[in-house]
Amino acid sequence: MSAARAVTILGSTGSVGRSTLDLIERQPDKWRVAALTANSDVATLAAQAKRLRPDVAVVANEASYTELKDALAGTGIEAAAGKGAVAEAADRPAEWVMAAIVGAAGLEPTLRAVSRGATVALANKETLVCAGDLVTRTAGRTGSRLLPVDSEHNAIFQVFDFDNPARVERVILTASGGPFRQLSYEAMRSVTPEQAVAHPVWSMGAKISVDSATLMNKGLELIEAWHLFPIGVEQLDVIVHPQSVVHSFVEYIDGSVLAQLGTPDMRTPIAYALAWPERIATPCRRLDLTEIARLDFEAPDPVRFPALNLAWSALRQGGSAPAVLNAANEEAVAAFLARRIGFLDIAAIVAETLEAMTSAPIASLEDVIAVDGEARRRASAAIEARMS
Ligand code: NAD
Ligand code: MG
Repeated sequence: MSAARAVTILGSTGSVGRSTLDLIERQPDKWRVAALTANSDVATLAAQAKRLRPDVAVVANEASYTELKDALAGTGIEAAAGKGAVAEAADRPAEWVMAAIVGAAGLEPTLRAVSRGATVALANKETLVCAGDLVTRTAGRTGSRLLPVDSEHNAIFQVFDFDNPARVERVILTASGGPFRQLSYEAMRSVTPEQAVAHPVWSMGAKISVDSATLMNKGLELIEAWHLFPIGVEQLDVIVHPQSVVHSFVEYIDGSVLAQLGTPDMRTPIAYALAWPERIATPCRRLDLTEIARLDFEAPDPVRFPALNLAWSALRQGGSAPAVLNAANEEAVAAFLARRIGFLDIAAIVAETLEAMTSAPIASLEDVIAVDGEARRRASAAIEARMS
């Protein structure tokens, strides 16, 4: 029997993190956990650590250090805290790293894992949006393999002919359309955070759920796809598919369209990334097409969902524009979840921030951090202005 493979889960307490651990715990002798990290949920992190016995458990919030240390006392598991400790956890020698931190906070730890040549299962799409060139260039240099976990990109990865990219004509990302797919623009003005996070199909963290409701999630995914696959911007397309059964399409020059289908359960793409280039069994519900009976498709509405066009525009501009889009969106979504602004203000604030900042080249992590900070300052000012 081959030795257990060392794995690290960045963001283990989140939705993707928990699904990853669920799969690992079903076949415990296949994997050995090197590190688990979380933001501030010490209770969940400590419970996970006691079950999975990593070398180290890290909490980003420094104020939570004593609580974590006490919770792990006598277990022999090292406790650490702080942003730097999260990045260091990614440095530990684990062959496979799940990047499941949400937002630009995941950039540095993800980049650290890529820099040491690890196989990186990439859920954290914001990392590619704000620093895609940097991440893919670094991966090219170190031989780090990026395995897409986002269901659409995982689907494309499964059916994309990487040996003959010129045979690919189009890549079409499917979007569920979110909870407000059929809501009028007027009615969107007054939707609550509770309504926005209640996704009709997928169960996910709060930030990505709001992104799904604005369709910014699909915008971020367009940029993510452009970095992951050797295709031009004009070859990318988005189609709304409310059942979320077809996870994306790749169209070839002969007119053949290949797709990957499955029930909407993130454990399928996570399992694919965990086992790649092999496959492992999952307990996911199997697809019953006679039960579903029909699959619907429609074009996205650019008027009610302006976020999608903002992402297209940032992708075409290139340089720092996608990082600005991402940072402004993170600030606006946080303000919406805190009930400081309305739902329609999210895209408006992103648009304002994008307009205010001219796109500059990105050459280093420092460049990304600087642009991210400046965009957050401007977005925060735009949020304040709306509240007064
Ligand atoms: P989540 O909010 O459920 O979990 C986020 C994780 O990141 C948690 O473990 C949290 O503790 C950690 N975290 C948050 N802020 C942090 C910080 N500042 N420093 C360190 N750690 C921090 O989010 P999620 O739904 O699991 O999504 C994670 C990532 O995966 C996101 O980028 C999301 O877009 C992507 N993704 C998620 C899904 C899904 O089904 N949930 C699907 C596709 C892609
Ligand atoms: Mg997705």
